[in-house]
Amino acid sequence: MYNPKSHKAEEFISHKEVLETLEYAEQNKNNTQLIDEIIAKAKEEKGLTHREASVLLACDIPEKNEEIFKLAKKIKQNYYGNRIVLFAPLYLSNYCVNGCVYCPYHKKNTHIPRKKLTQDEIRREVEALQDMGHKRLAIEAGEDPVNNPIEYILESINTIYSVKHKNGAIRRVNVNIAATTVENYKKLHDAGIGTYILFQETYNKESYEKLHPTGPKHDYAYHTEAMDRAMQGGIDDVGLGVLFGLESYKYEFAAILMHAEHLEAAFGVGPHTISVPRIRRADDIDPDVFDNGIDDDTFAKIVACIRIAVPYTGMIVSTRESQECREKVLDLGISQVSGGSKTSVGGYFQPMPEKEDSAQFDVSDRRPLDEVIKWLINLGYIPSFCTACYRKGRTGERFMEICKHEQIHNFCHPNALMTLKEYLEDYASPETKAAGEKLINEELINFDNEKLKGDLEEKLTQIHQGERDFRY
Ligand code: SF4
Ligand code: SF4
Repeated sequence: MYNPKSHKAEEFISHKEVLETLEYAEQNKNNTQLIDEIIAKAKEEKGLTHREASVLLACDIPEKNEEIFKLAKKIKQNYYGNRIVLFAPLYLSNYCVNGCVYCPYHKKNTHIPRKKLTQDEIRREVEALQDMGHKRLAIEAGEDPVNNPIEYILESINTIYSVKHKNGAIRRVNVNIAATTVENYKKLHDAGIGTYILFQETYNKESYEKLHPTGPKHDYAYHTEAMDRAMQGGIDDVGLGVLFGLESYKYEFAAILMHAEHLEAAFGVGPHTISVPRIRRADDIDPDVFDNGIDDDTFAKIVACIRIAVPYTGMIVSTRESQECREKVLDLGISQVSGGSKTSVGGYFQPMPEKEDSAQFDVSDRRPLDEVIKWLINLGYIPSFCTACYRKGRTGERFMEICKHEQIHNFCHPNALMTLKEYLEDYASPETKAAGEKLINEELINFDNEKLKGDLEEKLTQIHQGERDFRY
């Protein structure tokens, strides 16, 4: 029944295979010999299977866990260096016909104001985001064929790309909308989107159906097979995610890796990113009613084990998590964070008083983007606004090839420095600017490719003189 190459959800996410994996992991969680073998394989930095990674996740031998964390940090360093890419979510509409019990936008919630941005309002939001310094957005909209049809999403993407405010530009629009048809994915592809992101929420079919009692999202297979349709529609960068807290985290962990293996087996290219959101409080939603919540230590272990299992897949943590928690997982494998986020419709141009707010979830990390940038710099990271890959045609298989050979660093590093320089010139506070300039100089001193260094220094000078949008 379990078949990673199949396009049927119940075959590539076989419930039986997940249960057997969990049993195997439980039986071997103290098997030092096996754990050592898995760690040795992981040290080759080519990834692990869902079964192997599940054993590491279950392992409760403190010294082995230390090794796992150390290895995750090393892999993070080798693949991603000290760069962290920044993005912001942009909520277009909170109209939704689904009944997801963990989301305040569910159809029956009458407490929140429903809102859908007009194209003019989108322009205002994008200008506000550009004034913060953002270059990369993830657009979000509820599922509603009447209020948010695909034409509305496409028009909105077009509007976002068209706004050029001062030196600002949104250079990559990632899209997080409901599962749709191959035809609609083709349209999204043609509109020039970056990554198509769709959270599975939970891979456990029985729980999935209970958590999504009404609306089109109730259909487990249609939702789970969405990435296959997206790839058939020509989108080759897709982003997976589960909402930790809904189901047992070990189940989700094994299944999301099976999903990644499926994409690799069926299309030759794994997921571009994996997101690791945890359920948060929101209007009409009490996270305490879900009894699968995970503590910060478990969360860190999940991040470390995903990093080891799929080294070349980016990992995203949002402002759902507190500054403290984000700090803890950055060096374990996170490659992208959101910053200065508003999770309500229209929240950037006109932040709402809290009681009128229609946020999808409570934001834990409420710091403005400039503070997030300064914080990252002070921690020794290079905040990056890079969007080069898809604009250079480095997507899908081509991107994965470069990643798997650990060569992406040669692009990411100079691009990070150039986009940080743009940020410092255009948006940074004096304090952040000083810290950022110091960081760029230090990075240049240690730059090991002399030829590239010369070219990069020239481009940094040109950015200072007012030119924008260089990329490798
Ligand atoms: Fe709608 Fe998405 Fe919220 Fe479900 S999670 S109610 S589909 S907005
Ligand atoms: Fe991402 Fe590509 Fe830029 Fe690296 S070079 S940060 S992989 S867009």
